[in-house]
Amino acid sequence: MHTRPYVGRFAPSPTGPLHAGSLVAAVASYLDARAHHGTWLVRIEDIDEGRTVPGAAEGILHLLATLGMHPDGEVVWQSARKQLYQEAADKIAAHTYPCGCNRREIADSRLGLAPDGSAIYPGTCRHGLAPGRTARSLRVRVPDAGADGETVSFTDRFAGTVTQHLATESGDFVLKRADGFWAYQLAVVVDDAEQGVTDVVRGTDLIDSTPRQIYLQRLLGVPTPRYLHVPVVRNELGEKLSKQTGAVAVAPGDAQAALAELQRAAGFLGLDVAGAASISEFWQKAVPAWSELLSERGVR
Ligand code: GLU
Repeated sequence: MHTRPYVGRFAPSPTGPLHAGSLVAAVASYLDARAHHGTWLVRIEDIDEGRTVPGAAEGILHLLATLGMHPDGEVVWQSARKQLYQEAADKIAAHTYPCGCNRREIADSRLGLAPDGSAIYPGTCRHGLAPGRTARSLRVRVPDAGADGETVSFTDRFAGTVTQHLATESGDFVLKRADGFWAYQLAVVVDDAEQGVTDVVRGTDLIDSTPRQIYLQRLLGVPTPRYLHVPVVRNELGEKLSKQTGAVAVAPGDAQAALAELQRAAGFLGLDVAGAASISEFWQKAVPAWSELLSERGVR
């Protein structure tokens, strides 16, 4: 159990406007921070500059303000923090290696897919690049199957114990991509540590990434936050809401519509906030409702 003062965060990727699913993650992280009398930060994860949509981050920040979710510190932008990611990669250089493989070659090795859909790396470049190959990406070595510490476990505040076998479920993973951008897994770990984040509350679509992040935290010698992964919102086809599945933007036209969006997110999280007539009343009711939900689930 940690004794550091609670710091939570919402870390959207500005690849488009917030949809009902990302709003649920925002609301849950905000409520958890408020229920713990903690700090709530917003971090714009614009590290994948190829996917960043101009204006999306500003739109997200504007929407959060409209909904009454005000961060307790300056908003940080990953695109401005590349130096920190470089320093972290340098620090764990003994555990990393350049990789010359392309996607096709990795897929052809047929080791299968990691839970997040990425191909499991067969370790081709682990012992050096083959003659004539040039480095494309930077990977971190995970413990061999059968080695000590090959699995990573953590206790999710909702899901309970989650265990992943890194060698077979992830393989050596990318820290710096072939396109030159730092990978999400590294950036998120560096930033959560640098910002003193004690509590990560986000969608369960990221639960399979958490063991890789904990592994990196251990290599870097930084604390592991507590984690709570909330259910993801799905459409009628059962697909996770995302830009790819055509999720509509949350774009309330007035305060009433904004309140309705918050009510919907709260309802999805199983909170009873009926009767709130304004956004401030909504938060007054939602924070204790969240605390109650946690105690019903036996979670702190
Ligand atoms: N930027 C990630 C996303 O929007 C979330 C990262 C996180 O919460 O760890 O999916």
